[in-house]
Amino acid sequence: MDERTLVLVKPDGVQRGLIGEVVSRIERKGLRLVSLELKTVDRSLAEQHYAEHEGKGFYEELLSFITSAPVAAMVVEGPRAVAAFRQIAGGTDPVEKAVPGSIRGDLALETGSNIVHGSDSPESAEREIKLWFG
Ligand code: ADP
Ligand code: MG
Repeated sequence: MDERTLVLVKPDGVQRGLIGEVVSRIERKGLRLVSLELKTVDRSLAEQHYAEHEGKGFYEELLSFITSAPVAAMVVEGPRAVAAFRQIAGGTDPVEKAVPGSIRGDLALETGSNIVHGSDSPESAEREIKLWFG
């Protein structure tokens, strides 16, 4: 039974020209792109997307970063799509956690600008896909 997940190429990834690189890795894994849209993120969407992090030390920095420039939002589908994308994205800290071969492990240096977002559970994916694509 196929599953869907929300993937974002965050402002650092878009500005560095890495949308194609991310899409290519998604496709090589065997996952399929269902929707893809460049979006400017307003404060309200950012707050809803990152609601779980409200009150944390990095929250304000995270909101200003995600609203600073366009993001590429996509719905990605396939068997175990949520976990499969988290695997190819790599851990949150691109140096301490993400392994080489993953998107973050290969392409990023800082936790605050780690190129991609991927939903962390099927329930989060459903909520986030509704939020970003209606
Ligand atoms: P993930 O994106 O791997 O699911 P989280 O949901 O924990 O990670 O955090 C959301 C985003 O917030 C991360 O991708 C990262 O960009 C940023 N972030 C998380 N922790 C920190 C931190 N300690 N310092 C700065 N930014 C952080
Ligand atoms: Mg998360």
